[in-house]
Amino acid sequence: MLRFTQRLPQLAARASLANVARQAAKRNYAALTYSSPTAHEAPTSLQAFTEEELMLKETVARFAREVVQPKVQEMDEAEVMDKSIINAMFDNGLMGLETPGEYGGAECSFTAAILAVEELAKIDPSISALCDIHNTLTNTVIRKYASPELKEKYLTRLATDTVGSFCISEAGAGSDAFALQTRAEDKGDHYILNGGKMWISNSGEADIFVIFANVDPSKGYKGITAFIVEKEWGVEIAKKEKKLGIRSSSTCVLNFDDVRIPKENVLGKVGDGYKYAIDSLNEGRIGIAAQMIGCAQGAYDIALPYMMERKQFGQAIGTFQAMQHQFAEVAVEIEAAKLLTYNAARLKEENKPFVMEAAMAKWLAAKVAEKASSYAVEWMGGNGFVRETGVEKFYRDAKIGSIYEGTNNIQLQTIAKIISTKYK
Ligand SMILES: Cc1cc2nc3c(=O)[nH]c(=O)nc-3n(C[C@H](O)[C@H](O)[C@H](O)COP(=O)(O)OP(=O)(O)OC[C@H]3O[C@@H](n4cnc5c(N)ncnc54)[C@H](O)[C@@H]3O)c2cc1C
Repeated sequence: MLRFTQRLPQLAARASLANVARQAAKRNYAALTYSSPTAHEAPTSLQAFTEEELMLKETVARFAREVVQPKVQEMDEAEVMDKSIINAMFDNGLMGLETPGEYGGAECSFTAAILAVEELAKIDPSISALCDIHNTLTNTVIRKYASPELKEKYLTRLATDTVGSFCISEAGAGSDAFALQTRAEDKGDHYILNGGKMWISNSGEADIFVIFANVDPSKGYKGITAFIVEKEWGVEIAKKEKKLGIRSSSTCVLNFDDVRIPKENVLGKVGDGYKYAIDSLNEGRIGIAAQMIGCAQGAYDIALPYMMERKQFGQAIGTFQAMQHQFAEVAVEIEAAKLLTYNAARLKEENKPFVMEAAMAKWLAAKVAEKASSYAVEWMGGNGFVRETGVEKFYRDAKIGSIYEGTNNIQLQTIAKIISTKYK
């Protein structure tokens, strides 16, 4: 079915993608940080990508247009992700983007993964959410902290045929994630898991779940521990939510009723789950920023050609100065959000502080996606408001950017906290 099928594995096979991060470091990407501006001998623009990154970006853009686009409206209406699209994501290496080749992954750089998420979102922010959460949260937390045995067992499946979910949020633990009540009781050679999770992305399709639970509530958040849990051990998908946007990305309520987890499925160290959660979400936010700039650009790219074509009062509506000012302003804001996003990604790759920059990128990208998609609907008038043109979907999809992986207020809180430490 897919002409792309060979491309990403080929890239991985060239093994040169393993060098992308190193190349990025060598090229001394200029980093806009408040904290420690760094002098570079040969600074490059923030849109400088390696050959491999550009190749991936182009391949994913084509994949999105040719494989995903024909199904987008149907999936949105049905509120279901087409299985053939998920299979195609696996076949094309998009579910193991940063996963090492030894586990069947494409071994891309973080920036390459971000570009893939952005390109998918230009066509469908739902499939982009599936790719982003599976890669930047689930795969990443396992790649960084799991034992070699767990990596071998789960990263391989997650790169080749099994969807994963990342489960922190609960009814009483959203922004205050560490208030989670799910309990894992130590029973000697295994744990018994009881509780539940809310709003878990990809959980309708997933068979592997990274679940955060408290093993010792008397220690507060220092009891939080991450586990890798297989669906067949008793993870119950209790309810699939009906949503405003990203409707084909599944978001479900999970129940755990005496789920037996073998001891070896503790991810990393007992009691360190809160560190892994913070670390993963800090990084994952750059992925959501990428999803949102893709969403903004996707809406923009539908509206602009329409405005140049549609005539009122004897001229193309895009030639009215009032319209020109609006689309110019939105273009500036999309560009600003892109630069923040790419910069945050490079900072992370260079092992420099990136938490504030990631929060800034996500905050701005979410705002810009809302504004761009809202204007895009307006620019297309009645045709923007009807479903057929696809632009109203971007408007609905944009809203999630200011909610998941930290709401807009939480991003501002993170930014303010970091800035405050510098001025005290
Ligand atoms: C579609 C979707 C997919 C999701 N996927 C996942 C997933 O895969 N895994 C997962 O674990 N979770 C997931 N979530 C959960 C998501 O991360 C939470 O919804 C989010 O963190 C916000 O929590 P909440 O909904 O409880 O809102 P609340 O925390 O109740 O926030 C409500 C409002 O109060 C504000 N607020 C809260 N605290 C403060 C504060 N201290 N200062 C200022 N304002 C504050 C917020 O900014 C917000 O405006 C998903 C949610 C959705 C909707």
